[in-house]
Amino acid sequence: MQKIHNYINGEIVAPAAGNYLDNVEPATGQIYSLIANSDEQDLEQAVAAAEAAKNHWGNSSLEKRAEILCRLADLIDANADELAKAEAVDNGKAITFAKAVDIYRSSANIRFFAHAATQFSSESHAMGDVAINYTLRDPIGIVGCISPWNFPLYLFTWKIAPALASGNAVIAKPSEITPMTAYLFSKLCIEAGLPKGVLNILHGTGAAIGGPITSHPKIKAISFTGGSATGAHIAKVTAGMFKKLSLELGGKNPTLVFADCDFEETVNEVVRAAFSNQGQICLCGSRIYIERSIYDKFKAAFVEKVSQLKIGDPLDETTQHGATVSQSHMDKILSYIELAQQEGGTILTGGKRHLMDGRCKKGFFIEPTVIEGLDNQCRTNQEEIFGPICTLMPFDTEQEALELANGTQYGLASSVWTNDLKRAHRVAKQIEAGIVWINCWLLRDLRTPFGGVKSSGVGREGGLEAMRFFTEPKNVCVKY
Ligand code: NAD
Repeated sequence: MQKIHNYINGEIVAPAAGNYLDNVEPATGQIYSLIANSDEQDLEQAVAAAEAAKNHWGNSSLEKRAEILCRLADLIDANADELAKAEAVDNGKAITFAKAVDIYRSSANIRFFAHAATQFSSESHAMGDVAINYTLRDPIGIVGCISPWNFPLYLFTWKIAPALASGNAVIAKPSEITPMTAYLFSKLCIEAGLPKGVLNILHGTGAAIGGPITSHPKIKAISFTGGSATGAHIAKVTAGMFKKLSLELGGKNPTLVFADCDFEETVNEVVRAAFSNQGQICLCGSRIYIERSIYDKFKAAFVEKVSQLKIGDPLDETTQHGATVSQSHMDKILSYIELAQQEGGTILTGGKRHLMDGRCKKGFFIEPTVIEGLDNQCRTNQEEIFGPICTLMPFDTEQEALELANGTQYGLASSVWTNDLKRAHRVAKQIEAGIVWINCWLLRDLRTPFGGVKSSGVGREGGLEAMRFFTEPKNVCVKY
């Protein structure tokens, strides 16, 4: 059976202790590869390699770094079909989605930050004719990047690209639930000529290798994307070590539909916002608030559209809705459907595991599910489910819509659907979220700040925010 190995000091290597985890294909429920379950021994090798590589890489010319990173981006594009298939098998997402979103964005991330590095500049502050301050922004040294399973290569590259572009040596850990494309990527790093030790990829569980990465004294910054509970744990572990920390965490995002929206377009896009990637996107709009005057009309059109989503084998190009990522995640989502009914919710469509024939008969498929009749305070509307479930709720006034939208511990993303320009700006200003989309969803410009407020995280990724996170500012004051 295929083994997924680490990438340390420019080579693909087996884990020192020889421990492996099973890797399950979500669409079939079958084990199809084995994953290195790394530990401190592997980490020490990776840190030694990063230590040896960091100064040379950090002092290399921006053009050189950008050239290597662009080569890597080109290799992702050249291998897009293979990578998309690997992502669909490993994660359960539809292959057309994997290609158009995951793999497309992975190379875009790397190319974007390769160019960002060549354009990055630091500040200077003149003090009249007394002095001039200038700020140096040097690489931090060795940084850790830990990513989740929902966009395996996309979110992995979203972190390591700015970390590398700004001159750091990186120890990276993809999710143990979806490690395959990070493994394939390590082979592309060798092909692209990335110098040895500049990037080290360690596979394994959060407990076995994620924890040791976050607490290692030589790793000076941690960029983490994952659940809020894990983020809170990492914040505690690293607090006394004064590491730089970027935490991109969970969401429970509101979608606000006003009666003056473009109806058809809004229905289509709100379906996409709720169910893309089987609802397993931190940005998915899972709480949908609809102005009462169009509630019934919107509900009917929305439910019809959702019930038409084609569930199928992720490898089938016509599939729109693939498998959820694991048995345990499927069980968790199904338990929330049960809970929603106990809390008084009515299922309008979906609500069950979807059983298939043939290759996928043991797959982890769940019907796209729409629920109404719940209040805002119930657990279904407060807790992140991270699956193909959304709730519909009516509102009467803009103020009420805002209170409902802001009424959770999360504050990652939101979308607002209206043709009233003044209202759009007013609502955007008052929503407690790091990201507000007006009449769109998941429209991304990689230069913009990306991240959340409240329990959705600390810090921002994207553009200059990421370049600043991965560099250490030092002010130099020169008296004339
Ligand atoms: P998770 O927190 O379980 O795991 C994320 C990563 O952290 C994995 O690589 C895991 O192995 C590692 N990890 C686990 N325990 C660790 C520990 N103690 N120390 C260090 N590393 C540890 O999250 P998940 O289930 O993989 O991903 C789903 C979550 O991620 C959802 O909450 C989702 O909202 C969130 N997410 C957020 C964003 C964002 O940008 N804000 C993007 C995608 C996903």
